[in-house]
Amino acid sequence: MSSKFSRYGILFVISAPSGAGKTTLVDALRETAEFVYSVSCTTRPPRTGEIDGEDYRFLSEQDFLAQIGAGEFLEHAKVHDHHYGTPLQPVLANLKDGRDVLIDIDTQGAASIRNCDDPLIRSALADVFIMPPDLDELRRRLTKRGTETPEQIELRLVTASREMQLWRKYRYTIISRTVDYPSSMRKNSKLRAEKTGGRKVVRLRSSAKTIVLGVTGSIAAYKSAELASVLVKQGHQLFVVMSDDATQFITPLTLQTLSKNPVMTTFFDEKENWRPGHIELADRANLLLIAPATAHIIAELAHGLAHHPLAAIALATRAPILIAPAMNGKMWMHPATVDNVEKLKSRGVEFIGPEEGMLACGYEGIGRLWKVEDIAFRTEFLLARQENLIA
Ligand code: 5GP
Repeated sequence: MSSKFSRYGILFVISAPSGAGKTTLVDALRETAEFVYSVSCTTRPPRTGEIDGEDYRFLSEQDFLAQIGAGEFLEHAKVHDHHYGTPLQPVLANLKDGRDVLIDIDTQGAASIRNCDDPLIRSALADVFIMPPDLDELRRRLTKRGTETPEQIELRLVTASREMQLWRKYRYTIISRTVDYPSSMRKNSKLRAEKTGGRKVVRLRSSAKTIVLGVTGSIAAYKSAELASVLVKQGHQLFVVMSDDATQFITPLTLQTLSKNPVMTTFFDEKENWRPGHIELADRANLLLIAPATAHIIAELAHGLAHHPLAAIALATRAPILIAPAMNGKMWMHPATVDNVEKLKSRGVEFIGPEEGMLACGYEGIGRLWKVEDIAFRTEFLLARQENLIA
């Protein structure tokens, strides 16, 4: 297990009709260190300025066919009379190491990846369609770009309208509302990245959802206050459920004030019927987030125990579960915890962290709660994923 990441990477597969702004977006994402870009193989000759190994790996027809024969592609397709293919091994290796991978691919390639049998690919896939606002806007952009004749533009628009029908097949759709940038700006990728960051709709923003935040007894429990505050600011309904130990580190009153909802600590809280019961919370939750999660709650979840409200909610809910562990590094690395984490992951539970650093117990090592803003972002991502639309 890698010491830094305890999750697999996300496989972002991006398709768009030409002129929708995909290149701008992909170039901007490549400028960040957050994605590994999957370099495709192709049999088409390099264009001026294209670099072998960076833009594509340029192969002869014979080498390409040999790689197909050897099963080296995740998918391959013939586009405009040339072969294009995505090498499988680098994608798998990066996902296993917890790195997010970005694949820029046509709609046929995206369809093959969706149908791929590999369980890692299936669970990692986040396919994204970039949708231009409408065909008139696309025509305007293509005309402004000036790289195609009017006949070629009309041909591209026919293809684009066919491809635009396919957006529902994708898990996410980004509506690209920005206009093309002038060519001087297009050359300046830094400026382009800045522009893209500000105006494109790449933010993961789900509509208001119900989140149950489980807090367990770690010194990092105080960070749940900041997390609660961020999630409420994002517009979500938040219900906090605390383990008994957690109340020694932070008071329920603090979390009640921040969440603006009653905090559940024991089954006896349910005697006051103005509070939602644990089954009601399990049913209402769009996501169960446990942060910080101790080795103990992870073991309880792995074994299906339900001796207190948080464990019972985890057992009863059918919402996705996200766990942000925090504990001593030796506890995290112990085979019992490793087994429990693997067991939960195989049931679809997601983990974020822990990270390396100075731990409260005086040890330097892995076990610290992951950064609060990243936990909030991951929460947002999982909620948005349920909605099929990021825009
Ligand atoms: P171009 O030759 O203009 O770079 O790309 C032509 C088309 O091939 C684009 O639609 C691009 O998304 C697609 N493409 C690039 N790499 C791959 C790949 O690995 N597999 C598939 N199926 N399509 C690809």
